[in-house]
Amino acid sequence: MTERVESIRERIAQACGRAGRSPDEITVVAVSKTFPMQAIASGTGVGLEHFGENRARQLRDKAKARPGAVEGGDVKWHMVGHLQRNKAKFIARHADWFDALDSPRLAEELNKRAAKNDRVLPCLVQVNITGDDQKYGLAPSETHEYLDHCAQYDHLAVEGLMALGSFVDDPEDVRGEFQKMRELFDTYDASGNPQVEMTELSIGMSNDFEVAIEEGSTMIRLGTSIFGPRDYD
Ligand SMILES: *Cc1c(COP(=O)(O)O)cnc(C)c1O
Repeated sequence: MTERVESIRERIAQACGRAGRSPDEITVVAVSKTFPMQAIASGTGVGLEHFGENRARQLRDKAKARPGAVEGGDVKWHMVGHLQRNKAKFIARHADWFDALDSPRLAEELNKRAAKNDRVLPCLVQVNITGDDQKYGLAPSETHEYLDHCAQYDHLAVEGLMALGSFVDDPEDVRGEFQKMRELFDTYDASGNPQVEMTELSIGMSNDFEVAIEEGSTMIRLGTSIFGPRDYD
């Protein structure tokens, strides 16, 4: 893993160089889904701090084994996958970030649960930038209205947007999607909305993170490029 992470850091630095950005602007979320706690220990050993899971119960179990910052620990747990409302309680309690907020009903439930835990949950709003029926997220045309709507949730702090690009062989093919995300991100006026601050744009995965960085990503979510291939999702 040391070599893989070193090579990723090098590629991040090069992409930042091309875009006139600093690598300090990029947070790596190591998507540890399906991998055991040993992988988290190896990850922190090479300086990784943010970890991502896509199943609420797995996140809960891992956060019990190694608490995130919200529970006094030294790592940050991100829920990166679609969340069913009946599992919102796990995320409101154990996750440091929820990166896939995608409906008013889910926001309401998470807000209620976060209030019970006496905390504010940092969230990203997921946008379905490809328009693919199989993908979760708000339509781009509804995103700003949804952000306005989030002003009422005192226990959610919306920190930005998240999206998955199309699954393609050539990462150049997702550049246009990432540009659209950047535009949605830049054009939202958060002044006057106390619960929203547009600071994080979470785009880019193992196959397309360099293009995402060139287009303004601040958070890249890397699974296979850090941990190796997964047997299942
Ligand atoms: C699995 C997953 C990733 C990481 O995917 P890789 O292609 O392995 O880097 C990123 N984001 C989400 C939402 C995921 O579910």
